[in-house]
Amino acid sequence: MLKELFANRVQPDNPSRLEGLFPQMNFDDAILFTAGSPAEELFPKEAIRQAYLDAMDLEGAHTFQYHTVSGPIELREKLAVRAQQKMQIENAKPENIMLTAGGQQGIDLIAKLLLNKGDGLVVEAPTYVGALSSFDMYEPSYHEVDLEPDGMNLDQLEEILKTNNIKMLYTVADFHNPGGVTMSIAKRKRLVELANQYNFIILEDTPYRDLRYVGEALPAIKHFDTEDRVVFLSSFSKVLMPTLRLGWMVASKQIIQRLYKLKEAADLEVPNITASAVNQYLEKNDLDEHIKQLIQVYSLKRQVMFDALQREMPEGVKATCPDGGFFTWLTVPDEINTTDLLYQSATPDAHIAYVPSKNFYAFKDHTNGMRLNFTGLTPDEINDGMHRLGEVLDKAMNN
Ligand code: PMP
Repeated sequence: MLKELFANRVQPDNPSRLEGLFPQMNFDDAILFTAGSPAEELFPKEAIRQAYLDAMDLEGAHTFQYHTVSGPIELREKLAVRAQQKMQIENAKPENIMLTAGGQQGIDLIAKLLLNKGDGLVVEAPTYVGALSSFDMYEPSYHEVDLEPDGMNLDQLEEILKTNNIKMLYTVADFHNPGGVTMSIAKRKRLVELANQYNFIILEDTPYRDLRYVGEALPAIKHFDTEDRVVFLSSFSKVLMPTLRLGWMVASKQIIQRLYKLKEAADLEVPNITASAVNQYLEKNDLDEHIKQLIQVYSLKRQVMFDALQREMPEGVKATCPDGGFFTWLTVPDEINTTDLLYQSATPDAHIAYVPSKNFYAFKDHTNGMRLNFTGLTPDEINDGMHRLGEVLDKAMNN
């Protein structure tokens, strides 16, 4: 009875994409390659503690009062400078910066801003599962574009654009989650040209962008934006801590003003104590120095992962080698179903877990891949876990 009252978007035959993503593994020796979490030992705990104290000292009781949807100007000024210098978004100004409850809320608000039921939305195949969970709520008409080693296949995209009305395209251009690849400069430029020609908005989601282990940073897609069509989205989750729930985006004033309405309707504003503390942190610490430390630790783990993959994986298994970020993507022969393998063999026998490919596709119809995280484990765990995975795959492929 109660069930009939729920909206279509939350009917039980439409299960959460995040459900069952992380098998509960109660074995002492379990090795989990599932996480998308930053390493806790690298959290700048003391500096953040001090930043919260500084924020409280600065404003007293008023720190805890309602503020405004736009958040502290001092923080937006700093983020505008960061966008100019680090992302090459030269025209970013404080009024182009919007603060959100993590990058996740940014994704959700943009989808809410643009998508009526049935509207055309292009996503990469595979793509970030949390974005799909959010998009599902707006009941779009999905179009998938394959991910290649240099980013999404733009020829495929153009074919879609010729025959469909597309409003929005979502991309993780730097160190893709889950694919591990980075979009080339040439593709960034052409993507913006296509957006101009076919009139759609690009959501450029970049939570891993600062975590580059090899090569030079590329200009953001928004750097090439000539018609205010690109929304650049970033987050403090991976470079500071996820619990801050603080994301930020760069977009045109026209877009930001409308997003403010949506954010006010959802939750009024980001918590002032957090925004103010992050502002204090940025004032008294060098975020880029902290990021350098993260890069040092994570890039070592990446190397251990790739040596182990080369050593342990049977012939016929392919892995992407990301220049940054948290993940590598494994493609296994077509006849292997990685969801079945996880529940029938990898988890129960080998005590390892990964995220099967099915979760990362809008149509849930790709079963021969998996996402592996390499930042949340020790080098020994990575070596041991890859050895176990190699054995599981070897057995499955020779069955
Ligand atoms: N986008 C991508 C690609 C992500 O991987 C994540 C987190 N895993 C997010 C957005 C959301 O992160 P947060 O809300 O913590 O900023």
